[in-house]
Amino acid sequence: MLLTRCAWPVGLPVAIILIMWLRVVAGAQAPATPTQPASPPSPPAVQSPVLPPPAPVIMIDPAHGGTESGAVLAPDNLEKDVTLAFARRLQQDLIARGLQARLMRDSDTMLSTDQRASIANATRSSLYVCVHATSQGTGLRIYTAMLPGSSDNRGAFVSWQTAQASSLPRSRSLQEQLTTAIQKTRFPIRSLAAPIRPLNNVLAPAIAVEIAPASGKVSQLATADYQQMISAVLANAIAGLRGRLESGQ
Ligand SMILES: [Zn+2]
Repeated sequence: MLLTRCAWPVGLPVAIILIMWLRVVAGAQAPATPTQPASPPSPPAVQSPVLPPPAPVIMIDPAHGGTESGAVLAPDNLEKDVTLAFARRLQQDLIARGLQARLMRDSDTMLSTDQRASIANATRSSLYVCVHATSQGTGLRIYTAMLPGSSDNRGAFVSWQTAQASSLPRSRSLQEQLTTAIQKTRFPIRSLAAPIRPLNNVLAPAIAVEIAPASGKVSQLATADYQQMISAVLANAIAGLRGRLESGQ
């Protein structure tokens, strides 16, 4: 009796707790209500970026090289070395002004004028700049091509000897603008036409620049200060034509 009487009041709460516990456990183990798989978030609308046009490419050609030394400006001062050193400075100055600049040669290598024209034409540059140096005269000279009497270009076929013909008006126009810009710096400059190879064989607008000492001393051509000064003057003038070089006008 004692056991029976005690069994009710104690056993009932235990049974209730047991049932509640079983429900909790069952609830925890119950499979989750199946839900629809989440659809992947739709990608945000992307507006294709408007890229600026690529910077014009300037092909710089240090004349001479290898066994062809060019003018012997002094026993230890060869034109081929001055043109290469100046071309490297000009390349850096043009890149610093946002243009692309490539060197036709970046070592003491000999290239024929035909090879130079072929490389220039394959590069599709906006402007070809051939670099010479001389002990004669003063300052800077800018040349454009002097083509033989008549052009033999027909349709898509372009004569190698007069490949420059279609770009010559533009070459002269750029030459004129460069000369005007450099005159404003009061640096001595002249503008000429001459039969300088390989200008005739280059399809793109093409000029040759010839640097001479300003002091009358030919040794000035080999100095870093003088080369850097001319390079900066020329690079500023070329960078000022960027709009024209980009548009091809
Ligand atoms: Zn030369």
